[in-house]
Amino acid sequence: MEMKTHARVVIVGGGMMGASLLYHLALDGCTDCVLIEKNELTSGSTWHAAGQCPSITGSYNLAKIHAYSNQLYPQLEALTGQAVSWHACGGLRLANDAHELAWLRFVHGYSKSIGFRMEIVGLEEIKRLNPFLTTEGVIAAAWTQDDGHGDPSGLCQALAKGARDLGATVMRHTRVIDIRPRPSGEWEVVTGSGSIVAGMVVNAAGCYARQVAQMVGSDAPITNMQHHYVVTHPVPAFLERSGEIPVIRDSYSSSYIRQEQKSGLMGVYENTGLQEAWTPRGHPEWEASNELFADDLDRIAPWLERAILRMPIFGDVGIRRVINGAIPHTPDGAPLLGPAAGLRNFWMCCGTSFGIAQGGGCGKYLAQWMLHGDAEINMTEFDPRRFGAFADSRYVRDKVFQDYRQTYVTRRPGEEEPAGRPRKVSPLYRRLETQGCVYGETFGWERPKWFSLDGRTEQYGYARSNIFDVVGAEVAAVHERVGILDLTGFAKYDISGPGALAFLDRVCANRMPRVGGIVLAHLLSPGGRIQGEMTVTRLGEDKFYALSAAAAELRDRDWLLHSLQPGEAVRIENVTEERGVLVLSGPRSRDVLRSLTDADLGNESFRWLRAREIEVAGQPVRALRVSYIGELGWELHAPMQSLPSLYDALWDVGRDYGIANYGLYAVNTMRIEKCYKAWSSELTNELNMLEADLPRFIQFDKEDFVGKAATRAQRPRPFQIVHVEVAATDTDARGGEPVLSQDRCIGLITSGGYGHRVKKSLAFASVDTEFAAPGSRFEVLIQGERRPATVLGAAAFDPDNLRMRV
Ligand SMILES: Cc1cc2nc3c(=O)[nH]c(=O)nc-3n(C[C@H](O)[C@H](O)[C@H](O)COP(=O)(O)OP(=O)(O)OC[C@H]3O[C@@H](n4cnc5c(N)ncnc54)[C@H](O)[C@@H]3O)c2cc1C
Repeated sequence: MEMKTHARVVIVGGGMMGASLLYHLALDGCTDCVLIEKNELTSGSTWHAAGQCPSITGSYNLAKIHAYSNQLYPQLEALTGQAVSWHACGGLRLANDAHELAWLRFVHGYSKSIGFRMEIVGLEEIKRLNPFLTTEGVIAAAWTQDDGHGDPSGLCQALAKGARDLGATVMRHTRVIDIRPRPSGEWEVVTGSGSIVAGMVVNAAGCYARQVAQMVGSDAPITNMQHHYVVTHPVPAFLERSGEIPVIRDSYSSSYIRQEQKSGLMGVYENTGLQEAWTPRGHPEWEASNELFADDLDRIAPWLERAILRMPIFGDVGIRRVINGAIPHTPDGAPLLGPAAGLRNFWMCCGTSFGIAQGGGCGKYLAQWMLHGDAEINMTEFDPRRFGAFADSRYVRDKVFQDYRQTYVTRRPGEEEPAGRPRKVSPLYRRLETQGCVYGETFGWERPKWFSLDGRTEQYGYARSNIFDVVGAEVAAVHERVGILDLTGFAKYDISGPGALAFLDRVCANRMPRVGGIVLAHLLSPGGRIQGEMTVTRLGEDKFYALSAAAAELRDRDWLLHSLQPGEAVRIENVTEERGVLVLSGPRSRDVLRSLTDADLGNESFRWLRAREIEVAGQPVRALRVSYIGELGWELHAPMQSLPSLYDALWDVGRDYGIANYGLYAVNTMRIEKCYKAWSSELTNELNMLEADLPRFIQFDKEDFVGKAATRAQRPRPFQIVHVEVAATDTDARGGEPVLSQDRCIGLITSGGYGHRVKKSLAFASVDTEFAAPGSRFEVLIQGERRPATVLGAAAFDPDNLRMRV
């Protein structure tokens, strides 16, 4: 085949991920795409996969990806003419304890919103679906009827064929050996048989994704793990029987178990003796294709034995075939889908450890993002820029080993694992730890979640836990006295220069403030969808200080830098690691601060939403009078090294006022009481400012800004974010619960919790617009119980902001 010299998109890698992306780009009309594969299609991880496609997975958004794959694969043969051997046998995920059952109930809730079939069934029904299963220790199971398994090679070939039939190009036996930037912003993709200039390049290189990313000076936080499954000799009981048992997934044996034709198949996620693929040889060699590793049955034996205890009929027949192949894994177990940090027109479509189940959906939603600027689902948790320089090889390996080991372990809400930590800490890390701080990890940062003053540890679960009152006491300290919080992880940018004002007015929906003012500003895509949320302070005519979520540091940096126009006189500096942040909140915060500064903190001279550079305890501090929790207070941004002395000074003075540490659990309940929506849960790429119900932060009378026309041209809104009160019992909505009107699913909870100041269970929900009016009533399904909910017309706590204005 004559090689193309130019293409709109070049995809590197012809496994499930690359082929699905090619198909979905072509389906969406983008056929000027070339997929380059160094060997045969499917010759990486894809060909040796067991081909299972479960509906149940760890997160709501990932479940949408799985659900789409499970809709697509049964139709692929008819769509493309390529056999895929789809077996619609369904799946049974066993619950071996109450925590697992609680999680399955939670997933059952969002199955209604996503639309995949799922039931929680008892032992009798489990036995009916699989009469051979030993149900010892099992208390229930999730029965997901849309699950199945297919032939991974067939699925991948079908997607590639479908793409080719639509006009896309596939090049086999061609290795990409380099990728070079061109001044035009395009890429030159160099192969052994010549070069192609590409408008966009996608890294879909599976186990080689790290090497391909390194070609452009980037990285992909991936460790490749060895994983086994075994196939037995034919099982007599299956020979006598038509039909197929559902795929079993079981934490007791840390395995998946299914029927393969008339044989048994068992795949094991061992907990010890894990093996990185290619470890002895360092990185995989380019020549590796269709490669399997030597079996290590001893390593997986303890789990295999348990799998056989579950299915004794497999124990009688002996093992016929063992597969031990490589799977790419990321530190958090989610795929890498989206732009590579710091680069233009370079995308990631890799890092999936369930690439057969996820391939279909990953291809669909990434294609939407690439072609239309946004996907229709929330892509935040898949964005490769959730990892930064902190995710070095050691960190990635530690996290991946943990993730692999815990494939079938049910993590409870709030539960975090120690692997790879701590990575990024504020100078107060140890000091707060000695005061009982329990940390959570975000973008590598250790951030205070809550303080254990009596040595207790959190008993994780969906219901209100043993730290409910502890969080309540932190809230009370902030509400009645004064609290202090280390929020050093905030992403921080200095934006300056003669063009800074015009630049920010163009990229933000809100108008920039006068000098000394602070505004909440949203970054919108040209299509009007929400990309980011920043607090912008104007320190001088041409000098701004922007803050955004810790997890958004690289995303927002890229968004700002990529929005610059040629010749624009604007300097954007990421100063995240230069400044620490202490938040001082509560009615006595002024008294505390006043003791340590000569600056006039009176309400007339230092008003709410104003900022000043002042000295506190002899340290230069950017003091921002702003609050995310609805109390009087200041954020104190100071040079990182001065944080300990600043904290000590505030604590010493604060003692007279009953100062207390507080953490992000308390912040979360207070921001919900204040009806403050959060980036990534309420504010996502799925919606625009009107759907987010944030009209006061969009200035339509301002000169043009990115996203203005699209927001204005908005068709009738299909849904809206609303603030609701929930009649909960001992379990609050936390995000992911379906909202029901009679038997219709009319929305989803985006976040929620108990408001300790108002003594109410509260939440945000995304609901059909007809249910958005204040006073509308519906129900929220929490742990299988329908709880009444009512839309509030104003913030549950202090709707007039009186407490922040005093
Ligand atoms: C034993 C086993 C069982 C599994 N079972 C399941 C399962 O039941 N369900 C499930 O969902 N997942 C399963 N998986 C995981 C699944 O196989 C992977 O997640 C998936 O195949 C990854 O697809 P991919 O397209 O990202 O990578 P790959 O399939 O590895 O594709 C990447 C391709 O890129 C090519 N390439 C790399 N570098 C270059 C270059 N420089 N130039 C050109 N081409 C290049 C490679 O040759 C390769 O073909 C299993 C894995 C194993 C090992």
